[in-house]
Amino acid sequence: VVEVRDLAKKFGDRTVLTRLNLDIGRGEFVALLGRSGSGKSTLLKVLAGLDQEIEGTTSVDGTVSVAFQQPRLLPWRKVWRNIVLGLRQDNDRAVAEKALAEVRLAEHADKWPLTLSGGEAQRVSLARALVREPDLLLLDEPFGALDALTRLAMHRLVEDLWRTHQPAVLLVTHDVDEALVLADRILVLGEGHIVAEHVLGQPRPRKAADNAEVRSRVLA
Ligand code: ATP
Ligand code: MG
Repeated sequence: VVEVRDLAKKFGDRTVLTRLNLDIGRGEFVALLGRSGSGKSTLLKVLAGLDQEIEGTTSVDGTVSVAFQQPRLLPWRKVWRNIVLGLRQDNDRAVAEKALAEVRLAEHADKWPLTLSGGEAQRVSLARALVREPDLLLLDEPFGALDALTRLAMHRLVEDLWRTHQPAVLLVTHDVDEALVLADRILVLGEGHIVAEHVLGQPRPRKAADNAEVRSRVLA
């Protein structure tokens, strides 16, 4: 679903991405690691079509949804309305409720976004992304602000949702173990392009401990 060839992205005279190539297959779960400032969010914005001032070619086949680290919910609309906002059936409460049930937030449909906890807001933003049944789901550190237990629950949830909907996923994370548990393939971004790639075996999800060897290579 994704084919990037020789992508370059500059901000003024500062080059953030250069000679970047990337392929993601249908239904594939890819994790993207890289230091702060290496250009991960920039790459996601380009793939989402939010930044078109680029060199090189990117082709994304199908529909794309993005869930940002900071859930961008409209505070003046109730949770369920945030979910269906912009859809053709933007009044369809049943559609919103089904998506909320999938992220275990069925009872929160009528809340205002500002009354949600951080983890709840992140799940709403995940539901909003999924309700569009995307071919490609871009997740930019979606579990960054969560405690360890909630994060584990979110891993299980994302795994379930991935199995049900089968989108291709590009997950940006700083958490190597998260990448090891969830992804089919781990990419490392550095110097403007993919500097390392680790293909993980089946089955998935797996235990991070089973991947101690890949873990040490990723961190090397
Ligand atoms: P983090 O892990 O901290 O989220 P990142 O890998 O997502 O980092 P980006 O947000 O992609 O990094 O930023 C890459 C570089 O591009 C940074 O040096 C950032 O300051 C710069 N940058 C990003 N957006 C802009 C912009 N709109 N204008 C100018 N510079 C930008
Ligand atoms: Mg970022």
